[in-house]
Amino acid sequence: MPNMAAKIITCPSCGEEIELTDLYEGMEIECKLCGAMMLYQEKKILLLDTNEEFDIEELERVEEEEEEEEEEEEEEEEEYDLDYDEY
Ligand SMILES: [Zn+2]
Repeated sequence: MPNMAAKIITCPSCGEEIELTDLYEGMEIECKLCGAMMLYQEKKILLLDTNEEFDIEELERVEEEEEEEEEEEEEEEEEYDLDYDEY
């Protein structure tokens, strides 16, 4: 069963992955690596250190982004295939 409650977001301060087992309006999130405090409200993450707001969707780690990276790698592989045919 997929765990729908778990989300992984990227810390806007240091880039560390933060696993959220719960997410609710007004929830405070602390990055364990850099200690940045964040507040979740209205589908945005407010970084309390700098008062910057980030879209939760931008910070959220989703598998689709990884697929895009794989496509770029495939293009590089095609170039290698062309070189190989010349031999
Ligand atoms: Zn951090």
